[in-house]
Amino acid sequence: MSNQESELNLPVKEKIVPESLKTKTIDPKDYLTFHKLTLDNNLEFWESIAKELEWFKPWERTLDSSNPPFYKWFVGGELNASYLAVDRHFRSWRRNKVALIWEGEPWDSSPREVRKLTYLDLFREVNKTAYLLKSYGLKRGDKIGIYLPMIPELPIFMLAAARLGLIFSVVFSGFSAQALADRMNDAGAKLLITADGGWRRGKVVQLKEIVDKALEMNKSIKDVIVVRRTGSEVRMEKGRDSFLHDLMSQVPNNAYVEPERVKSEDPLYILYTSGTTGKPKGIVHDTGGYMTLLHLTMRQVFDLRDEDVYWCTADVGWVTGHSYIVFGPLLEGATEVMYEGALDYPEPDRWVSIIERHQVSILYTSPTAIRTFMRQGERWITKHDVSSIRLIHSVGEPINPEAWRWFFKLVGREQVPFGSTWWMTETGGIMISHTPGGYLVPMKPGTNALPLPGIGAEVVNEEGKVKSGEKGYLVLTKPWPGMPLTIYGDPDRYVKVYWEKFPGAFYAGDYAIKDQDGYFWILGRADEVLKIAGHRIGTYELESALIQHPSIAEAAVVGVPDQVRGEVAEAFVILRSGVEPNQGLKDEINRFVRDNFGPIAVFKDIHFVSKLPKTRSGKIMRRVIRAVASNSPIGDVTTLEDEASVDEIRNAYKEFM
Ligand code: ATP
Ligand code: MG
Repeated sequence: MSNQESELNLPVKEKIVPESLKTKTIDPKDYLTFHKLTLDNNLEFWESIAKELEWFKPWERTLDSSNPPFYKWFVGGELNASYLAVDRHFRSWRRNKVALIWEGEPWDSSPREVRKLTYLDLFREVNKTAYLLKSYGLKRGDKIGIYLPMIPELPIFMLAAARLGLIFSVVFSGFSAQALADRMNDAGAKLLITADGGWRRGKVVQLKEIVDKALEMNKSIKDVIVVRRTGSEVRMEKGRDSFLHDLMSQVPNNAYVEPERVKSEDPLYILYTSGTTGKPKGIVHDTGGYMTLLHLTMRQVFDLRDEDVYWCTADVGWVTGHSYIVFGPLLEGATEVMYEGALDYPEPDRWVSIIERHQVSILYTSPTAIRTFMRQGERWITKHDVSSIRLIHSVGEPINPEAWRWFFKLVGREQVPFGSTWWMTETGGIMISHTPGGYLVPMKPGTNALPLPGIGAEVVNEEGKVKSGEKGYLVLTKPWPGMPLTIYGDPDRYVKVYWEKFPGAFYAGDYAIKDQDGYFWILGRADEVLKIAGHRIGTYELESALIQHPSIAEAAVVGVPDQVRGEVAEAFVILRSGVEPNQGLKDEINRFVRDNFGPIAVFKDIHFVSKLPKTRSGKIMRRVIRAVASNSPIGDVTTLEDEASVDEIRNAYKEFM
């Protein structure tokens, strides 16, 4: 079978244009004409976006490319991210507009706590918090760590740090003591903010204990601020630990801290990538370029309007939360939902009830969440009214066409724009996506659509640009605002990982295909491509074929060495609720995939499991499965969500090999 044939199974031919959108939708050709203009006049384009922010001092040079790949944007300009996200709205009619609708996880017959903070509230809290941080003697450029659950204090501390020009590093509150210590050591943080605990699936996670353990492995942190959240008993170390509420009682209620005029290229934060592939990298983001990119993407991708209720279901501990819970929506003066806990606690419809109760209109979620909802069944959705939703996007992994269709029908009512935004920690914001806030091209289930205005993206191989329909590596061809400044403490690694493979371009590490309309289909990580009988197939392509089977909710595919074919695929599948695993089903699935994908899709085996190893951000960790399969060390698993999933894979082997 030729490569061409195997690719016909990608759903590229399918186009869905909802009636209600027809007037807004444009032909991809016209989009590309417009897009080309933004590339040909790239600096002018970005200047026009940056001008819409409020700068204390205008920039002198749009892009400094004297030392590539260490580009600097809007050099000479001065601004403050906290001022942009808070003060500007506080000083406008939005003063009493709700900024955050925060919902705690604990549930009786309704949520036990819902807190609404207006921009005025946010302004007060951020100022008081900045006042407090200042009292620790922290100065511009100092680093602090934040290890908090999803409570309002998390964005408040980030905004307060930004106000003072402190560089913060947020560590996801699901991470272990070791992971926390590694990151704090690498960043050289002086102060750490944490909580007495956090709620997760009705249980308290003892965050302070984890912090105490982490600090045994750290020397840089001198002070710890502890937020009371769960009321659990915690050990407080004298001279090091203080409760936030004790400290706050010393801070005047009307405290005001002048926002620092930071330089555009000053770092705003260091964020460690999730570590799906190995040792975490401390990605450093600037201020001016980053805020400019967020402004563009909030408008183009989310089409945010003042009457919207926006909800991003990610955790602030990931870049998605940094950009699209904290800095992006607040920069735009949004009203947004921030939810503390598990989307399916105490019942699988918790997230739907949040949409219904708060009348969420814009939803930003992930394929892993959608596949979980699929497994739980549609009745959890249909018992609620989701008609407030007018726009959906997903992020984190490729979205399998089957999951896309399912969610589009049930939540999108087959009429709202629903895209899959491709980007990564390193890019700072969305790069490839549908743009309902600009020109919207027709949807296709599972695609990432076209690069945003101003963003140069291509699919290449060692010889250069590949033809449409051919697989290759995804690169970004132009510097963009929001790009990393460097990897913290390791500029050589920054050059090596991203800029050496394809000189002059940023190598994303993802495998992709561009179809005849110019749409991008990100097929997953370049290091997760199988080579079966000479054909390159993304594990994700086979997983998507599996998910089309009505009994399957989730699937992970890995390659294992094979003497005849070079490599063969093995599948691990989670069945939908109520389906019984047996040999007959296995044969049927094998047939199904072969019929739908082509004869090349032969699985050495299909294993039924109830869990897959995933990162805490919900991505399948195929390298862990591969390691079990080849009996080699599993490596760094600090980002693994549930150790039991690895045992399941081990057991699956014992049973079937
Ligand atoms: P690490 O780099 O530490 O291994 P990570 O790559 O999972 O971790 P992130 O920066 O959070 O950390 O994720 C970016 C990656 O997620 C992308 O490189 C891509 O593989 C995948 N991704 C994100 N969004 C999409 C999407 N919409 N479609 C396809 N893939 C996506
Ligand atoms: Mg990555």
